[in-house]
Amino acid sequence: MPEHKRYDAIIIGAGIIGANIGFELSKAGYQTLNLDKLPAAGHGSTGNTCAIIRTHYSTWPGVAMAWEGLFYWKDWANYLETNDERGQAEFIHCGAVYLGDTDRYTEKVLPLFDEIGVPYEVWDMEAVTKRFPGIDTGSYSPPKRVEDAAFWSEATTPLQTAVCSPAAGYVSDPQLATHNLQRAAEAKGGTFRFNTEVVAIRSEAGRVTGVTLADGSLIDAPIVVNVAGPHSFVINEMAGVADSMNIKTRALRHEVHHVPAPEGLGFADNPSLIGDDDLGTYFRPELGNHILVGSQDPECDPQIWVADPDDYDREISTGQWENQVMRLARRLPALGVPSAKKGVVDLYDVSDDWIPIYDRTDLDGFYVAVGSSGNQFKNASVAAYCMTELIWRVEAGHDHDADPVRITQRYTGLELDMAAYSRNREINRDSSFSVLG
Ligand SMILES: Cc1cc2nc3c(=O)[nH]c(=O)nc-3n(C[C@H](O)[C@H](O)[C@H](O)COP(=O)(O)OP(=O)(O)OC[C@H]3O[C@@H](n4cnc5c(N)ncnc54)[C@H](O)[C@@H]3O)c2cc1C
Repeated sequence: MPEHKRYDAIIIGAGIIGANIGFELSKAGYQTLNLDKLPAAGHGSTGNTCAIIRTHYSTWPGVAMAWEGLFYWKDWANYLETNDERGQAEFIHCGAVYLGDTDRYTEKVLPLFDEIGVPYEVWDMEAVTKRFPGIDTGSYSPPKRVEDAAFWSEATTPLQTAVCSPAAGYVSDPQLATHNLQRAAEAKGGTFRFNTEVVAIRSEAGRVTGVTLADGSLIDAPIVVNVAGPHSFVINEMAGVADSMNIKTRALRHEVHHVPAPEGLGFADNPSLIGDDDLGTYFRPELGNHILVGSQDPECDPQIWVADPDDYDREISTGQWENQVMRLARRLPALGVPSAKKGVVDLYDVSDDWIPIYDRTDLDGFYVAVGSSGNQFKNASVAAYCMTELIWRVEAGHDHDADPVRITQRYTGLELDMAAYSRNREINRDSSFSVLG
């Protein structure tokens, strides 16, 4: 006979954000249950993330949240308040250098860094080549595809300046970081169940009452949080809230490629993230003296929206491989382009303006932490802290829609106005409408 259980809060998903919400809610005294249809924590899109932690965003809440997020990663062991038998994920605090599109930095990002107090330096190209010998400092903007003859033209002008941002790095093992959060939540009384698929959200008189599982079991809770990553729109449809949200989410296919690092770049001894707006890529060191290269979604590249997040092409495509790796080879001329394609394919959970939705919904008790748009790994703990505070205040009777909750952050003391993450906001035109948020 199917079981019937009850919790204070059910969290759908055990990715980095879902597991972190499990931890924060259980720390706040809720009896929580994280459900995931995959076999372990962090096996969804979190498992293929580049796990880059950086602070440059084009909006005040974007920078403030990422700046706050950096402190969680720096304080990871203390924050977890518990040990994990598998060890702890390491935050490699290597800093970042951003090349190209200097206008975007000087007009949008740097004033926000100044206002919030995020450190940076403006470098000339001499400083760039001193730090990264072998880098080509030519300007090739705007990004093009290799099929376009102009892709192969030599740079006629050099890049003007670069921005060095020490407030950046990456997490060595994102699945381990998620497992760390699972263990931290369990230490506070939280429960995780894997290989367990939610197939329906139940409600009564405008209030969520629980979920139904694929085996027919019912689990009751007065609070259900959708943290289903690229499946977020499926769960919102199950709950009947998708149409009442002004901002929607969709799944977008993305590829990240791995290539051997060229000689002389110095990444092994002196790692760094490099954001290359000029060629539409970003890259960082990867295990085994490799480089991981991702896309900044330049306009010339097709976007592949996925209607069914359980059914999409998981093979690296020749077209994207050639374009992305050749863009990297323009910047690093000594790069050997391997014939065998290597990397990962996964989905972003993209909102209409590439800014997440951290909010309640029109169904009482049903909350969403969705639309992470390829850039919220770094903010998982901030999102979890804010969602816990928001849930607590709304359940205590606060009308968050009329009077949006403002939350003072743990480490920086900055105050985040959660209206910025409302499901009913107007599209934020200050967004970069890309993974840069
Ligand atoms: C290729 C790539 C590169 C990225 N790079 C970066 C980066 O460098 N920096 C950064 O900050 N962010 C990055 N991101 C974004 C970041 O990884 C995500 O924002 C984050 O991992 C989302 O976590 P999540 O917990 O919301 O979702 P997920 O990790 O996707 O977890 C959702 C979980 O929900 C489960 N689920 C779905 N439906 C159901 C159901 N019906 N029943 C039960 N369980 C269900 C899934 O199985 C899944 O495990 C990247 C993303 C990708 C794909």
